[in-house]
Order: sequence, then structure tokens, then C-alpha cells
Amino acid sequence: MGMKGYLHIPESIYCKACKQCGSRPVIALVQGGYVVKCPVENSHYQTQAGLIDIADWNIHNAALDDDVIGLKAYNEAV
Ligand SMILES: [Zn+2]
Repeated sequence: MGMKGYLHIPESIYCKACKQCGSRPVIALVQGGYVVKCPVENSHYQTQAGLIDIADWNIHNAALDDDVIGLKAYNEAV
């Protein structure tokens, strides 16, 4: 556990930056499991508590011009 009780996601794992502020997401342990969240603002997107769901984070932080279907396929393949 690092600062503020967050786990940093290894650089080897593909994850998108927060769509609202550009921060690399972190993993936090909360009641009910893990969330993938923005380290800066709690009001920015965070995944449902449970299993670590980087795919869900990536889909919600995809820019409009991103290939969301391709991203989904990529995440399901890894
Ligand atoms: Zn953010």
C-alpha cells in the first residue's frame, strides 16, 4: 500500500488516464472490495467495488474517438 492506501497499477498493465484530469488510476480497497479510481478526485469515475475491473475503467475513460470495441477486445484477451 502506498500513499493514502492506494495501490499503484503496474506500468505493464494497460489503463487509460482519467478522462477528466489525465491522472493514471489507482486501486483502492474499500468496503465491498476493490475499486479502480482517479487518485485526485473522488467525484471522477470509479468502478463498482468488487474485483479489480480495469476494463470497466478503460471503457468509461475512453475518449470519444477511441476504438471502444477494440479496447474491449484487447482487455478480454489479456
Ligand atoms: Zn480524475
